[in-house]
Amino acid sequence: MSGIVGHSMDALLGLKAADERRLPLAGLARKHLASYVAGAYLGSDIQIMPEAVYEKDGREVGFGTVPLDKGALARGPVRPFRLTTPEGSLSPRQIHERFYGRAHLVFGWTQADAALRVPWDHLPDYFAAVMDDALDLFGPGQRPLAYALGWVVHVVSDSLIKGMQPGIDLNLVDGRYTPRNRPVQDLYTFHEIGIREFHLNWPAMFADMAQTPVEPLQFHYMRCAARRGALGRLFPDGWQPAQEPTLGVILAENRRYVIHHAQDVLADMELHDTPQGKECRDSLRETVGLTYAEMLMAAEKAGFRHALWQMGEQIAAMFEQITHRCPRLASLPADDGPSWEQIAKQWNP
Ligand SMILES: [Zn+2]
Repeated sequence: MSGIVGHSMDALLGLKAADERRLPLAGLARKHLASYVAGAYLGSDIQIMPEAVYEKDGREVGFGTVPLDKGALARGPVRPFRLTTPEGSLSPRQIHERFYGRAHLVFGWTQADAALRVPWDHLPDYFAAVMDDALDLFGPGQRPLAYALGWVVHVVSDSLIKGMQPGIDLNLVDGRYTPRNRPVQDLYTFHEIGIREFHLNWPAMFADMAQTPVEPLQFHYMRCAARRGALGRLFPDGWQPAQEPTLGVILAENRRYVIHHAQDVLADMELHDTPQGKECRDSLRETVGLTYAEMLMAAEKAGFRHALWQMGEQIAAMFEQITHRCPRLASLPADDGPSWEQIAKQWNP
């Protein structure tokens, strides 16, 4: 499993909450929805690449640093995946160590880079500086801004769901975010909220995400570029322009692999009919130790939908703080971009 379902949903929840607060930036995110959603996934998770390659036919399998499951290993011998970069070939683990903290800011840094960590209460300043730079250095188009807003969603929601920051009350099956409850979170999010509540066409949304271009702004907010702009003034440390070419290869690889990964996840989300009703894949049922019907009941009992509502509110609260610090975001036309109904129709013609 991976975060593609959860992070895309966080982007939509944050956007709906921002719409309810009448934040003008919500219109901008709706207008560039694919880039906004891409920012919420590809904008932070730089480890979107295969985990391994089958020896017999070179077929790629798995995801980043996540160990392969029994089913994948049973299909034949594999060798570890390595990405060819200007600095030689790198494993997903090495890529994670070098770049993960730069994109997640509040956590995920190695010991050597620990001083670059951005404390939670400095995030609004960091984000607002990035928005200023998106307008001044990467504009006048607003697509980079929408992408950066998606990245904000990821940084905030990852910290909340992983418990680095309080704000989400959830005890689902065996905790807030555990290997055992992640399939429950994904299945409930995918079917009950995504399809039933939001009328979401997940395959179309993932396909749109995979088509979005790499944003040069990402090198800037990860400080893998020459130090400049508002961010360079406010956070003068940790800029490493020498990492730019390697990061460029990684971000391109993320764009290439995300659609393959999305297909794996979509297959994992499939349900089939049984005499007792809908059932999910055996592998997920074994991981969780519950039937699909029991998973739905567990999610409802744990108030999972409420936890997701809290998530949307926390994201919108961060958007509000950013808007206070970057007043130009408040002067955007509030009703810009398509409505939710138009978006749903475009994905479900
Ligand atoms: Zn992440």
